Amino acid sequence: MEKINYYNVMADEFEKIKKEGRKPKLLMHVCCGPCSTFPLELLDPLFNLTLYFNNSNIYPNDEYYRRLDELKRFLDIFNEDKNEEDQVKVIITPYENEEYNKFLSIRKDDREGQERCFMCYERRMDEAMSYASMNNFDYFTTVMTISRQKNSQKLNEIGKKLSQKYPNVRYLFSDFKKKKGINRKEELTNLYQMYRQQYCGCVYSYNEYLRRLKEKEAKKQI
Ligand code: SF4
Repeated sequence: MEKINYYNVMADEFEKIKKEGRKPKLLMHVCCGPCSTFPLELLDPLFNLTLYFNNSNIYPNDEYYRRLDELKRFLDIFNEDKNEEDQVKVIITPYENEEYNKFLSIRKDDREGQERCFMCYERRMDEAMSYASMNNFDYFTTVMTISRQKNSQKLNEIGKKLSQKYPNVRYLFSDFKKKKGINRKEELTNLYQMYRQQYCGCVYSYNEYLRRLKEKEAKKQI
């Protein structure tokens, strides 16, 4: 199937919003500080933004708090010169990794990028969009399309499906990595010396990261 350029779809939506001359309320699912940098910079002039951090997938818990703390640190910098009412806020849901692991374990043998990941995208996006729907947000989106490792086509298909489940919220299609978005993310991550995680998040991606590390070490010793 032909791939859709979701950056262009997003840009068309921006034009509509600019013509309407309003600043809609947007809830943005965020997974970590670095992935939030460019989407925040891009969307803040157009939307009244709130972030939603619901990432019980992250394992182990010190990694979860490290990513969350880095996001908060970046947000403090981002908000520094803003009036109280213009500041971007973040909603943080309870961390329930054990329960999340049980949910993922039904596809424990999948490799990264397969069905387990699609379930993982959908669950976190569904939770966030449900919150957006109950709290009168105009739009919902996720920063996950900035990641080269994540399937943007699939993320946007899920967003489209969820907009049928929550018809009072518009899903903002995106592909934040395009048009040098990925380069800007790198620039901002370097500028603020942000912590960069070495694996996606769940226990399976963590174990895979440890396996790769061991392999590297073993090669060094040959
Ligand atoms: S690799 Fe990432 S997207 Fe896939 S299941 Fe694990 S945390 Fe979720």
